Amino acid sequence: MHRTEKTAKLIEVISRRASGLVVRDEEIRYLFPYRSVIVIKALERIASSVVEARGNLLFCRLCGKGGFNKRGMYFHLSRMHGKEVINMLYDSLYSVERLIDLTAKLASEMRVEIKSERTKELVKSVSLLLTERQGEVFYCKLCNRRFSRKGIYMHLKRKHRLEIKQMLEKNKINLTLDQK
Ligand SMILES: [Zn+2]
Ligand SMILES: [Zn+2]
Repeated sequence: MHRTEKTAKLIEVISRRASGLVVRDEEIRYLFPYRSVIVIKALERIASSVVEARGNLLFCRLCGKGGFNKRGMYFHLSRMHGKEVINMLYDSLYSVERLIDLTAKLASEMRVEIKSERTKELVKSVSLLLTERQGEVFYCKLCNRRFSRKGIYMHLKRKHRLEIKQMLEKNKINLTLDQK
């Protein structure tokens, strides 16, 4: 499948799913042959974080507009929030290991690229708890030792993997609560 074609199809499928219109499992398998099960679960989570039902009407949690019927919600999402929902999907497919790595990189002031604001916020909030920089020296806030930039990154990954994971999980819950 061509890339733009896949993007268009993805936006359509995510928007339909979030609006409560039918999406068949085959459609997901066609788009993600190797991880359709994970994607189907991710779509479920995205649906509930993007659309809110009040009575018979649907409201967009990304911009507050509503109330739509299912069809109207679908058109709104696919036209106004296509790029956003795709980024949400890709971000939700990040593995925990990848999130830990991104957090350690950010804490070491290395460059990272994260598409969705939500994931960026999560990773950033945890990275701020990990290090303190003074000139070229990085202090590990978890054990008070000092490192160079390269050293701190390796140190965080080797010694504090579990702690970072727990912090990510804890902050993830906080972020979810904040948005309600
Ligand atoms: Zn909206
Ligand atoms: Zn440490």
